[in-house]
Amino acid sequence: MINLLIMGKPGAGKGTQSKKLLKHYKLAHISTGNIYREEISKGTAIGKEAKKYLDDGNLVPDKMTNDIVWDVLNENNYPHGFMLDGYPRTRAQAEALDEMLKKLDIKLSAVINVDVKDDVLLHRMAGRRVCPNCGHTYHTDYHPPKIDGICDHCGHELIQRPDDLEESVMNRLAIYNEKTKPLLDYYDEKKLLVVIDGEQSTNKVFQDILKELGE
Ligand code: ADP
Ligand code: ADP
Ligand code: ZN
Repeated sequence: MINLLIMGKPGAGKGTQSKKLLKHYKLAHISTGNIYREEISKGTAIGKEAKKYLDDGNLVPDKMTNDIVWDVLNENNYPHGFMLDGYPRTRAQAEALDEMLKKLDIKLSAVINVDVKDDVLLHRMAGRRVCPNCGHTYHTDYHPPKIDGICDHCGHELIQRPDDLEESVMNRLAIYNEKTKPLLDYYDEKKLLVVIDGEQSTNKVFQDILKELGE
């Protein structure tokens, strides 16, 4: 059993690497961003509330996010472990997660930080295209779909996330620096932090992560 957190600035490649790690270790993927985008597309009460924050790139309040993660962790049993992607993002969330894991008697195996410079991120977010139907992620330059604008997996038209437009992107980076970056020290002190050079090809980043995890 392996329980991982994947951290990194918006656009660092968390989702991309999560997908590869899940397959490799048969992990469950718990992405708070994906959960919110799903709730928004279904038009639920949670989705309506969350949309106010997501569109501008602001964080959804901690209480709402912690409650969602608690429900997911408490209601499921992951025999091979899980990958938390995009959570925790604040000190209060990290402390809440510690409490949840203690209650459930679960230990984190490692916290992976995918490290990428801001100018590279801006280019990654500007070219990111996602499939609103199956969730697959592409990049116009680095991972283009076979047919321009169409999902390879399901044939649906690709979209650009509203929060990948320039104004939101700058806000998300500022919020990351203020609220999320301090968590790297938090996990480093717990001797869980692994730093990976995220400015390499997708496959090289993945190989480096596997190496750090002891393969
Ligand atoms: P990225 O992959 O670009 O880092 P995510 O998909 O993880 O972005 O998150 C998208 C948005 O969802 C965030 O900008 C925020 O509004 C909301 N969100 C996701 N996770 C959290 C969280 N842990 N706490 C608060 N808001 C969150
Ligand atoms: P995050 O979940 O951290 O926000 P994503 O995994 O969605 O990041 O990646 C952001 C964008 O960058 C996507 O368009 C993705 O295809 C692309 N991308 C991810 N990893 C790499 C990489 N190593 N090299 C080039 N582009 C990448
Ligand atoms: Zn698709």
